Amino acid sequence: MGENFFTIHHGDSSCNARTGLIDLPHGKVSTPVFMPVGTNGTVKAITGDDLREIGFEIILSNTYHLYLRPGTGVIGAAGGLHEFMAWDKNILTDSGGFQVFSLAPFRKITPEGAAFHSHIDGSSHFLSPEKVVEIQSILNSDIQMQLDVCTGWGASYQDAVQALDITDNWLLRAKKAWLEKRDAGYRGKLFGIVQGNFFKDLRERSAVSAAAADTPGIAIGGLSVGESPEVYSEFLAYTAGLLPKEKPRYVMGIGTPEYILDAIEQGIDMFDCVLPTRTGRTGRVFTHKGHYSLKKAENSRDFLPIDEECGCKVCRSYSRAYLRHLFKTREILVSMLATYHNLYFLHDLVEQARSAIEADRFSSFKKQFLSRYSAGAMIDGGEGAS
Ligand SMILES: [Zn+2]
Repeated sequence: MGENFFTIHHGDSSCNARTGLIDLPHGKVSTPVFMPVGTNGTVKAITGDDLREIGFEIILSNTYHLYLRPGTGVIGAAGGLHEFMAWDKNILTDSGGFQVFSLAPFRKITPEGAAFHSHIDGSSHFLSPEKVVEIQSILNSDIQMQLDVCTGWGASYQDAVQALDITDNWLLRAKKAWLEKRDAGYRGKLFGIVQGNFFKDLRERSAVSAAAADTPGIAIGGLSVGESPEVYSEFLAYTAGLLPKEKPRYVMGIGTPEYILDAIEQGIDMFDCVLPTRTGRTGRVFTHKGHYSLKKAENSRDFLPIDEECGCKVCRSYSRAYLRHLFKTREILVSMLATYHNLYFLHDLVEQARSAIEADRFSSFKKQFLSRYSAGAMIDGGEGAS
């Protein structure tokens, strides 16, 4: 687009990982970056002050949810989403395509747009690529996503082609609408989305269309939709390799340390997931030696912090025994503390990854981190994410 809003700092000589800087309307963002998810205009169980304290420069919010509630009328009247939720750093919004996809059978996709029934009150709605650009411009998103059609694991080739053709066409329509908004003074960036399900020729076709549309950044969609980790990894690497090097690359919906490190190694710059906050609220916490549940009985007289190697304020103050007690007595505070720790942990992990890339040692950093993390995760295995 002729705007130099993304600068690559350093490419790791041992793999495709890279560091960079994205210059957005609400400040600069160092990449690779993990973005916490604030579905309803709030990252659940944590304040904006705490997110700033941890060091987050960008969060994600969901167009679909905000469009239904409180609606663009309220957010527009507030002056945009930043003002409404009192968050002065960057916001990326998704297009709602994935939520609409998840509403089956309560939705119908045509080349014109997506008709669906609200999950809240059953009311009928219609989203077109142009309308989704309009909504995200009212939200004043720093990065907005095109409306796309996602297909799940196991979709037929024919269904994948159909979804891809619609997605490619919607990208051109979204770009035209975005350029008009930009001419009217809107400063947010538009990202196109690569689909193509698990067919390499379709991934390639979609990547070529997305590159040709020349949006400021490109996202890889349709991953983490039910496939095995091996298939995920294979298609992530394959699709990332097809994208233009000079644009930021975003993979939607990944949040485990394993998936994040894998994505960074393939040259992905941005990712988001509800996992650290959602599992935090169920009492599951990340540590350098794997993840575990705060509620387990062994913690009842354990006065060590969640993770002895973590520098967060929760780990500096509270013991596993106390947190287990809070969990058992269903105190709200435990959700807040576990959420803070989990987000701090992932932020710190990505920061360490950036330093490792700058020193050309990302591959060994990843191996070293995962050898301890995965071994610990196995010790606590079988307990699930509950
Ligand atoms: Zn901690």
